[in-house]
Amino acid sequence: MANHWGNSRGNSWAINRANTEVNVNTERVCDSLRTSKNSVNFDLMRHIFSAFATLAFVAAVHAAPASPFIEDMTWVEVRDAQRAGKTTIIIPVGGTEQNGPHMALGKHNVRVRVLAGRIATGLGNALVAPVLAYVPEGNITPPTAHMRFTGTISISDDAFKSLLDSAARSFKQHGFTDVVLIGDHGGYQSQLKAVAAKLNKDWTGASGEKTQAHFISDYYQATQTTYVKALRAQGLSDAQIGTHAGTADTALLMALDPSGVRGDLFAASAREGVSTGTAGDPRAATAALGQLGVEAVVTESVAAIKAAVGKR
Ligand SMILES: [Zn+2]
Repeated sequence: MANHWGNSRGNSWAINRANTEVNVNTERVCDSLRTSKNSVNFDLMRHIFSAFATLAFVAAVHAAPASPFIEDMTWVEVRDAQRAGKTTIIIPVGGTEQNGPHMALGKHNVRVRVLAGRIATGLGNALVAPVLAYVPEGNITPPTAHMRFTGTISISDDAFKSLLDSAARSFKQHGFTDVVLIGDHGGYQSQLKAVAAKLNKDWTGASGEKTQAHFISDYYQATQTTYVKALRAQGLSDAQIGTHAGTADTALLMALDPSGVRGDLFAASAREGVSTGTAGDPRAATAALGQLGVEAVVTESVAAIKAAVGKR
């Protein structure tokens, strides 16, 4: 524990060690130069070289990240970003579940992280919390719904709501004025709404309180309405679009992270259907089609968050 909190000592150790390494490398360069015929003032060269190397190292250490993800930032950087106006925090909720034989279990987590980042960038005043990858996915024993397939993780409704509640209160404690909940999975949308309502009930009326929670249903609804209409306009049938791991679901992941998609298994997924976890036909999925969903989710979520925050 002592080491965990020894920040200043740890940092100075790291800097001194790095400087030592820079100086060791400088010595090697200068040793080789000393053996050359054209003798100049090597000590002066060594000091100039060392100074530039140290400056470059210090600049690299203190470069502020452009990322909106707090996991990529130090606490000082988050504090300074807040002071510069980034007072909204987005909590992205994913889930770990089967997505047919052709998509990785982390589909929701990958999508909601990337989309939350784009939404934060679109808002201009928001940061993004770590993704919640553990969500209710059905009864564990005996297993129901997605829990019937290997690798799916389920937690209780109470644990889920309690975790979100505590995360939101943590961000309020640290000065965020708007806590936004978005979720990539359909099953828990009503629970996100309930968590935000309870937080607002507790926070309203307390003297000096100014933090609000916002459940943004538009994030998920955009995939069920605007995106589906756009796919129909491209000539796809509802049987192709599907409700789970079909073309809509699969194309959306392809547009954001194709590494989670196994294209060579599309035909088997379409043929075997619900027995292996697919409701729909993924064979028409492309990243270009998925981009229609990305644009719908980002545009509609940014507009909804602006409207919700604007009402305060
Ligand atoms: Zn899901």
